[in-house]
Amino acid sequence: MKPVSNNNERWEEKLKALTFNVKQIQDNLLEEILTPNLKTEYLQRFHMDRFDKELFKKNVPVVTYEDIKPYIDRVVNGESSDVMSARPITGFLLSSGTSGGAQKMMPWNNKYLDNLTFAYDLRMHVITKHVKGLEEGKGMMFLFTKQESITPSGLPARVATSSYFKSDYFKNRPSNWYYSYTSPDEVILCSNNTQSLYCHLLCGLVQRDEVVRMGSIFASVMVRAIKFLETYWEELCSNIRTGHLSQWITDLGCRSSVSLVLGGPRPDLADTIETVCNQSSWEGIVKRLWPNTKYIETVVTGSMGQYVPTLNYYCSDLPLVSTTYGSSETTFGINIDPLCKPEDVSYAFMPNMSYFEFITMDGDKRDVVDLQDVKLGCTYEPVVTNFSGLYRMRVGDILMVTGFYNNAPQFKFVRRENVVLSIDSDKTNEEDLFKAVSQVKLVLESSDLMLVDFTSYADTSTFPGHYVIYIEVKDKEGESKKKKYVELNEDVFSKCCSVMEDSLDNVYKRCRFKDGSVGPLEIRVVRQGMFDSLMDFFISQGASIGQYKTPRCIKSGKALEFMDECVVARFFST
Ligand code: AMP
Repeated sequence: MKPVSNNNERWEEKLKALTFNVKQIQDNLLEEILTPNLKTEYLQRFHMDRFDKELFKKNVPVVTYEDIKPYIDRVVNGESSDVMSARPITGFLLSSGTSGGAQKMMPWNNKYLDNLTFAYDLRMHVITKHVKGLEEGKGMMFLFTKQESITPSGLPARVATSSYFKSDYFKNRPSNWYYSYTSPDEVILCSNNTQSLYCHLLCGLVQRDEVVRMGSIFASVMVRAIKFLETYWEELCSNIRTGHLSQWITDLGCRSSVSLVLGGPRPDLADTIETVCNQSSWEGIVKRLWPNTKYIETVVTGSMGQYVPTLNYYCSDLPLVSTTYGSSETTFGINIDPLCKPEDVSYAFMPNMSYFEFITMDGDKRDVVDLQDVKLGCTYEPVVTNFSGLYRMRVGDILMVTGFYNNAPQFKFVRRENVVLSIDSDKTNEEDLFKAVSQVKLVLESSDLMLVDFTSYADTSTFPGHYVIYIEVKDKEGESKKKKYVELNEDVFSKCCSVMEDSLDNVYKRCRFKDGSVGPLEIRVVRQGMFDSLMDFFISQGASIGQYKTPRCIKSGKALEFMDECVVARFFST
């Protein structure tokens, strides 16, 4: 591995140039995007006969995915890209679709990967300013590739991360320390995610002293990896002891590459790991198994925030670093202050990624402003114009401006806009739901229980309709690790229902207590492990393990059916 690249200064200059010249870069970028696209059917429809920013804003509407879907569908079905993009669309990105809506298909080309890799390099530069001693070690990153599908036009449709791992950008990546992983590429590229996860852990354990950073794209995956380790550590140790990989790992790429990493029998190493894993408490396990780890790199903002306590438990004092805010439309920005607390994370938008506009969300009037014109403390929904045929498309996230890095606005992720529970005129968004659930956590904690995960559903099959919250609970760690069943005390859970309702807003309370248009809130406790199975369910439906986020509101009938089969008890507010 090459020593630290002497690129630091170069990257620092780039960061400065980008964050000082926001307006200029954005204006140039818009021209660069639009000029070749003026002849596309889409822009012609809005009479864009020349590049002119004002004309663009006047003529081209701000749209949702549904509005432009007919154009995307035409390219999916074989029409030429220039329906919407003069730069050939060479694939589609499947957005996770578990953030509330159905799976979307975004037009894609290599420019997406140019941006992705640029943002990755830049963020790693930022991290090295704050964390020292990373250059000598490796990253143990839980990265996954999902099988792609092929559209009728013969183009690949895949999730964002897979589009990168399957590309030459990944294959021919530089030999920098931050592209150096404990897992061979074959493990990342294996389309069986369970085999892949097992191999990630095995390779990471074998090279435990070399691991300096660990992580996954989203925190949910990191938690899943630790839980998986809790189940499989004895088998992993046995593989290390004998030097033989378990037979159920059938993926040929994994078998040959991981066998090489294993090297041969390592009984001493197996003993050491066994001793650590055998301890009754797993608090701080990550630091004990991988003593040189300096931080955990994983997104813990937005809906991932609820995994912070679990990660803190397993990783003790290791910083949780949320590095990037991105989506299938574009990469937006990076966290310039990587060691800040999870609740303080903001992302500085990078003006060279896409052309960004912002719908104002405060007050009743909706304006659209440029990146350089957003105001401190205000909330916005971003709108993207990118290099692959999306013009002024709403992203559906709500962000708040928390500051400026030079002139680049920094945004805190507030919530996903379209996730709401609604029965009558009440509208409960993700943030309200998290707030209400945090009250439930307090009640549970006072009864020595922990909330594992939750989701919700607006049940309109009853009259009046009511909110249903599915929760999985377990006994507080260490109290009764092996106990199969958790005792469910009626009083405790009824109280949970009530505190949730207390926490919801006034419109909800009016509907519920005055109008009677909303029925009593219900908590359905599900069996242990249900949320892991739910993830498997969504993965089987096309979601990717790497991008999976527990949906905070379930709309799929099949998922509901599945969950209802796992319900062990029901409680209502009184
Ligand atoms: P996808 O297009 O499936 O990759 O999902 C993109 C969505 O994931 C975004 O629009 C956000 O709602 C969410 N997301 C991505 N990055 C972050 C982040 N750093 N913090 C919070 N939410 C995020």
